[in-house]
Amino acid sequence: MRLVLMGAPGSGKGTQGVLISRRLSVPQIATGDILRSEIQSGTPLGLKANEFVGRGEYVSDELMLGIIESRLVQPDTAGGFILDGFPRTIPQAQGLDRVLGRLGIRLDAVVKLDVSKKALIERMVSRRVCPGCAAVYNIRTNPPKAEGVCDRCGRQLGLRTDDTEETVKKRLLLYEVTTAPLIDYYDGQGLLVIVLAEGKIDDVAELIERTLDQRAGKSRPGPA
Ligand code: AMP
Repeated sequence: MRLVLMGAPGSGKGTQGVLISRRLSVPQIATGDILRSEIQSGTPLGLKANEFVGRGEYVSDELMLGIIESRLVQPDTAGGFILDGFPRTIPQAQGLDRVLGRLGIRLDAVVKLDVSKKALIERMVSRRVCPGCAAVYNIRTNPPKAEGVCDRCGRQLGLRTDDTEETVKKRLLLYEVTTAPLIDYYDGQGLLVIVLAEGKIDDVAELIERTLDQRAGKSRPGPA
């Protein structure tokens, strides 16, 4: 299964991406995580991206396409992948189409997670991340077992530098203007699947699974 997971910042792409990736045994390719890791390691790519990420702006299409192209030729993507946070602009989507064309593969679906703006802001300011393993928590709805400590690797959790209220508002605006047009782009390709994603993590995961199964023609019984 080759999927794109899209939605506004805070819509749960990262959280749902991990769950889908485990269920389908395909890698989750999260461009935000890739950039944060490059920034943390101080690589040339990280140095280029740092200012943009910190300000809540987009890194250039050229740089992002380079990252994706080199990731999609890795052998672990042969059985499929989940793109989380990419593409974010029409030129990135067109570039992705060209890359996939060269590789002789196609997307199976683009899942758009729908969450109200109020819930998005609440989620982002309550978000805590692990600087070690990139695990994501929400202090209200999905807290770690011990306060402020990562369940998976024991590191101290922190805020993302771009999760301040001011930057969050800027990122939401950028999403509306630059990324939301992708909804029509992928609808036009017959790939778009919209999933209401305001419920609990497991319920949303179940809904995504059922929607994708239905799309693939397998019918599973709904909830009683
Ligand atoms: P995310 O973790 O997906 O919210 O991404 C964090 C930040 O990384 C974004 O606010 C952008 O600054 C940058 N970023 C991630 N993916 C992309 C992309 N596809 N295009 C441009 N910038 C990106």
